[in-house]
Amino acid sequence: MYKSFLIKYGEIAIKGKNRYLFEEALVNQIKYALKDAEGEFKVRRLQGRIYVDTLGEYDYDEVMEKLTHVFGIVGICPVVLVEDKGFDALAEDVISYMDKVYLDKNITFKVHARRARKNYPMTSMELNAALGEKILEAFPEIKVDVHSPQVLVSVEIREEINIYSVEVKGAGGMPVGTNGRAMLLLSGGIDSPVAGYMIAKRGVAIDAVYFHAPPYTSDRAKQKVVDLAKIVARYSGPMNLYVVNFTDIQLAIYEKCPHEELTIIMRRFMMKLAEHFAGEEGSLGLVTGESIGQVASQTMQSLAATNAVCTLPVYRPLIGFDKNEIIEISEKIDAYETSILPYEDCCTIFVAKHPVTKPNIQVIEKSELKLSDGIEELLKTAIETVEVIRVE
Ligand code: ATP
Ligand code: MG
Repeated sequence: MYKSFLIKYGEIAIKGKNRYLFEEALVNQIKYALKDAEGEFKVRRLQGRIYVDTLGEYDYDEVMEKLTHVFGIVGICPVVLVEDKGFDALAEDVISYMDKVYLDKNITFKVHARRARKNYPMTSMELNAALGEKILEAFPEIKVDVHSPQVLVSVEIREEINIYSVEVKGAGGMPVGTNGRAMLLLSGGIDSPVAGYMIAKRGVAIDAVYFHAPPYTSDRAKQKVVDLAKIVARYSGPMNLYVVNFTDIQLAIYEKCPHEELTIIMRRFMMKLAEHFAGEEGSLGLVTGESIGQVASQTMQSLAATNAVCTLPVYRPLIGFDKNEIIEISEKIDAYETSILPYEDCCTIFVAKHPVTKPNIQVIEKSELKLSDGIEELLKTAIETVEVIRVE
């Protein structure tokens, strides 16, 4: 019965020019989200509001599902839009709305009228009372509850009159594209997809880089990361996934550096390479799924050692999260089932039994000198042989 959805967006001091950019980005993201949905849609801005109009048949659940992935949306209200043909016609429309939406009339309600257009001949208070009365007359079982109604019937007098009472919670955050770009280090684990989701939620567009070590890591492990990138892209929009062959670099580290420092040194090279690809995309930062103390490579000292090779800021949105809190978000975004598939990761192949937990940066730098003969060449090759996958 709904031909339109009213999109509510909250957050922000969206003032002046920012408001325009915010709305424009939000419209683009909504269009992107509905691109593959069944049916045809028109997204339009009107008087500080965004409407999605449906043209012909569509699948309500599908549209609702897709819209709940769009950052920047606070609420999605299926809405009935009617022309202003005077109070009696409006009362009929509201009654017909209530009749169709609430098959069981054993409910309490309250009318909440608002006038965006002050030339309407009745005040909001008068509308509340008069429409409430009409609804009571039409449905004997229905009751008014002004304090905590089960159904709040919004009637907004605008150019067209908006009638709605259902609001589905949106994803919140800010529209992707309003806050720059970042490069996500995406592994096949639980944490990094969640980190990507959280950064995108703040309006940041993302690309991703994945390090694999064939033949030690399989094609299935790589496919898993592509699948995770697709899941993140449902929220973040399309991204470039850089798949870097890291095998020779890892082997060189394994051969020449102290084994307890393997993970830290490897992570430092990952950061360096990620920063290179970040530069190609015009990214303003790197993003990882690290959280303090989760593993040996995520102690404060280890994070400092990893950070030391970066010139871009490194964003770690999960830094203060416990694993169970991360898993909760992972499940919410439907990444968990994919993340726990048991394929090998390049980090887990060459690990020491007793990795350093408090690396000293000078010591690490000294160990890395052992690589100086040849590492530049290996980094160059890794960059030249990168595979870039477009993920939508
Ligand atoms: P995740 O669940 O995200 O894999 P983790 O708990 O396994 O994290 P680590 O393996 O120490 O922790 O990795 C820390 C972070 O480093 C990851 O969150 C990710 O951002 C990055 N990272 C680790 N391995 C890779 C990889 N193979 N390719 C790209 N990024 C990686
Ligand atoms: Mg991992």
